[in-house]
Order: sequence, then structure tokens, then C-alpha cells
Amino acid sequence: MASPVYVRTGQCTLGCGACCRTITFLVKAERMTVEYAQEVMKTRVLLAHPAYHEMEDVRNWTELHGFTVGMEGGESRIVIPPDVMQAHFRWTDNGVMVDMPQPCSMLGPDGLCTIYGQPERPDACANYPMTPQHIEMVRDVCTYAFEE
Ligand code: SF4
Ligand code: SF4
Repeated sequence: MASPVYVRTGQCTLGCGACCRTITFLVKAERMTVEYAQEVMKTRVLLAHPAYHEMEDVRNWTELHGFTVGMEGGESRIVIPPDVMQAHFRWTDNGVMVDMPQPCSMLGPDGLCTIYGQPERPDACANYPMTPQHIEMVRDVCTYAFEE
């Protein structure tokens, strides 16, 4: 089945920064069980798409949030920093979205990106959000909306 195409409306609210305070990873649905979810928080390791560690921009975005990215058994290994105490698991058509409240180290106290307009800022941030799943965690405050 083809992935839905979304049209984004609205705009970002200056100083909001809500989406920079969370991070979301996509995990294959067949991998995700209650036991695996518990194991993730116990071992502090999440196995993601094999190509994740090779995507430089996404990897940079992940590491700015304090996670480290490597490889394990042909899958990308994301190490969860010790200050992340909880994760939310959402089942979607594309897999399981794992949301964690963990701010980006580049977010300023005024809710603005301190590297805005600089080459170090991930391209992913400039294009974000691209789907309704991206703003699920911040739906109450995000001033973007999507139509399918
Ligand atoms: S780099 Fe800037 S825009 Fe991107 S998540 Fe961090 S603070 Fe937000
Ligand atoms: S949650 Fe929405 S409005 Fe807030 S910073 Fe992110 S994209 Fe902008």
C-alpha cells in the first residue's frame, strides 16, 4: 500500500521549541513487543533501521539530543542517555514510533534554536514536521496541521 501524501498548513510559532524537546524513532512493527519495549528501557539500547547510522543528517540530529548511534548485528544501535526516564510507543502503519522527552542540546532557554541558519543545524529540522506522526507528541501546541 502506498504511503499517504500529506499537505502541511500553518506555520511554526517563534519561541515554541516544543518539538525540539522530544525525539522520535521508528522501529519495525514485527520487532516491537511489550517485552522488547521493557528491554529497551532496561538496556538503554534501541535497534532501529539498518541505514539509520549511515544517514549523516539524522545521525547528527540524534546526537544533538544526547543519543549515540552505532551498529549491532546489521541494525543501527541507538544508545539512550541516562536522563531519559520514559518512552511512549505508538503503533502506526509504517511501524512503531518511539517518542522520548529529551531536549536538543542546541535549544536555547528562549525556545529558539541556537544554531538556526548555521551549517551545523540538521536539514531535518528545516523540513520538520513532514507528517502528522511527527507532531503527535506536541499536537496540543504545534501550529502546523496536516491534510491527507
Ligand atoms: S538543532 Fe535546533 S531546530 Fe534542530 S532540534 Fe536542535 S534546537 Fe531544534
Ligand atoms: S511544535 Fe510546531 S510550532 Fe512548535 S516549534 Fe515545533 S514545529 Fe514549531
